[in-house]
Amino acid sequence: MITATTVTDTDDGSVAQPGAGWQAELRAAEASVRAMDAALRLTEAERRGIEHARASGLRPKVTAHFLGLCDPLDAACPIRRQVVPHELEAREVPGDLEDPLGEQEHEVAPHLVRRYPDRALLIATLQCAVHCRFCTRSRLVRTGQGVTPMVELEPAFAWLRAHPEVQEVLISGGDPLTMSTARLVELVDRLRAIGTLRRLRIGTRTPSALPSRIDDELVQALKGRPAIWFMVHFNHPKELMPEAREALGRLADGGFPLMNQTVMLRGINDDPEVLAELFRGLVDERVRPYYLLHCDVAKGTSHLRTTLDRSVAVYRELLGKVSGIAVPKLIVDTPRGRGKVQVGPETIVEREPGRTVLRTWRGERVELTDPPSE
Ligand code: SF4
Repeated sequence: MITATTVTDTDDGSVAQPGAGWQAELRAAEASVRAMDAALRLTEAERRGIEHARASGLRPKVTAHFLGLCDPLDAACPIRRQVVPHELEAREVPGDLEDPLGEQEHEVAPHLVRRYPDRALLIATLQCAVHCRFCTRSRLVRTGQGVTPMVELEPAFAWLRAHPEVQEVLISGGDPLTMSTARLVELVDRLRAIGTLRRLRIGTRTPSALPSRIDDELVQALKGRPAIWFMVHFNHPKELMPEAREALGRLADGGFPLMNQTVMLRGINDDPEVLAELFRGLVDERVRPYYLLHCDVAKGTSHLRTTLDRSVAVYRELLGKVSGIAVPKLIVDTPRGRGKVQVGPETIVEREPGRTVLRTWRGERVELTDPPSE
């Protein structure tokens, strides 16, 4: 039964519907609590979660498009659980970290994080289209700060100029595609002017959460600026709506390589059939499933995280189901920023000089003999 716990927005903006223009949809997402209350039959656990999130966590935020994918009557809906807070967010468990990937420790200049020799992460904005309840960077996103002023990025540009061994920058946030196209182009051009940077990646959830953002203006503005890769983020096949497929198609037609990252989430997509459908659908749209990420240990997300055994078991079953081009790597991004580790089912079951026994995806044992050493 829905009781009288009241949820209200602090923002009085009206709720823009899909089709109102991406900027209007993004502004209207500020009124998400009211929109969730109007669109969904919220449970008491969700209402308490919303109150907790508004008081001390990552405030609720969802676009009209993404909200429209939520089942209004089913609190277990895999889309709804990604964006509607739950009271279990207030729970802390051993191992939870405020900054799971140790980004503060690895910051080499303001807003610039380096954890690997040849690449770095630039936090260009703290605004997103939706607030994912499992966000690894919620400590920053919840501050509500928007675009990082260009002047604040100057030390990051200077650091990159002084470190030519860093050849690749991931522009992230927040979600960089919540910035205006003009601002994004300005940022891309500032980075490209650092001659030693050979590749840029743009991480975004907008094709799933705000597909109208992928408009012709964006594609035309970035087209021809090599080499820009888009890293998109889809977690469930329900997100692959016609609007999302069209957005991905516009990026692919613009010539941008597309890679997807999925987070394994308990009760949302920890199911080989669900993931197989998602990854096949992405490949159909010319998106390469890249990483399947075991969920990071961000504070307040334990109810959404799987055990590692569960992640590996789901992955093992997935391997036999889908084409190799639809299989991402299963990755643990280790706590405190010690780097990504690829994990998976044990495939080498016996080893001795010149002879190895492998386990196939069917579970069969197959012997492999090495060639004689010369
Ligand atoms: S879009 Fe990305 S940065 Fe923003 S809340 Fe979701 S996971 Fe976090």
